[in-house]
Amino acid sequence: MPRPICATIHTAALRHNLARNRQAAPDAKVWAVVKANAYGHGIERVYEGLRGADGFALLDLDEAQRVRTLGWRGPILLLEGVFESRDLEWCSRLDLWHTVHCDEQIDMLAAHKTNAPHRVFLKMNSGMNRLGFTPERYRSAWTRLNALPQVDEISHMTHFSDADGQRGIGHQTAVFDEITRDLPGERSICNSAATLRHVNAVSASDWIRPGISLYGSAPDYPEHNAADWELLPAMTLASKIIATQALPAGDFVGYGSKFTAEQAIQIGVVACGYADGYPRVCPTGTPVLVAGVRTRLIGRVSMDMIMVDLSPLANQRLPVGIGSEVTLWGRASTGAVLGIDEVAHAANTLGYELMCALAARVPAQVMD
Ligand SMILES: *Cc1c(COP(=O)(O)O)cnc(C)c1O
Repeated sequence: MPRPICATIHTAALRHNLARNRQAAPDAKVWAVVKANAYGHGIERVYEGLRGADGFALLDLDEAQRVRTLGWRGPILLLEGVFESRDLEWCSRLDLWHTVHCDEQIDMLAAHKTNAPHRVFLKMNSGMNRLGFTPERYRSAWTRLNALPQVDEISHMTHFSDADGQRGIGHQTAVFDEITRDLPGERSICNSAATLRHVNAVSASDWIRPGISLYGSAPDYPEHNAADWELLPAMTLASKIIATQALPAGDFVGYGSKFTAEQAIQIGVVACGYADGYPRVCPTGTPVLVAGVRTRLIGRVSMDMIMVDLSPLANQRLPVGIGSEVTLWGRASTGAVLGIDEVAHAANTLGYELMCALAARVPAQVMD
């Protein structure tokens, strides 16, 4: 028998979350962001759930090729554009749209030989200071691009640093609007957080670019959780109990003896550890579902195992033992849900990182 850990990708949840984004931005087209192998879910595994999008946005030529192999004929956008001139050959061959964020990319385009001009998204650095032309340099970049025979339509994009938080997006939308106002072309500004939280930005977006919300994680946790935004988990990470131990008071659990039993306690050993992508930094108290019942992790996360407190099940006189279902995040077969954001929060990180870190050794299945 294989080790009992498994990730399940929920097609119906992906479809629902896509519809939720459309509801938030009824007039916009949707780039389903599937970079980083669809945030760890697997491009091939999410395709069925997300093929209702208007396009797929990603970073790697390899991932673009995979989306084409799945049969997608619509738009694909390279969010960081090309990394070297040769990549432009692939853009022509695979009919990819690409971001242009620096002069060097314009130089490469100017030297590229193609019969079919490329659709490009010119990127403004409106304050995040990661990629893009500064507002001062944006229009001259546009003019240069616009003069190239290699270039078809030019769209405008920028990315928000604080759509999920306090500072908001006002300072960035103001400069973006001012500089692009009288230029032709479509606009793309909203990530998940902006789509859900900032109605004004949505109405100024011909294309939204949701990533995390498609996968059922709240972009602004803990201010809101996934249920607040009516998002459903697209990934369940589940395993089973492979051993139990009955401890007397005063016993310790796991490496470093970080947990001490205050009283006699029944614990379960779960086939899931940091080598599966479960964060090693999750402390005692991190929520876990056993047979759909909420309980907690105890002691240190090891490479292949964690230990969990079975008291809440014992208290309810529920049968539990080797083979009992354990939900690390996502949906238990009882229907109970443990948000990936809660686990991420316990690990002092975000749902994004946990999804992306799902280890290759974890087998995955797709279900509706
Ligand atoms: C990753 C990414 C997104 C999606 O962001 P989410 O917060 O996951 O919705 C949108 N736009 C760009 C440029 C990105 O790199």
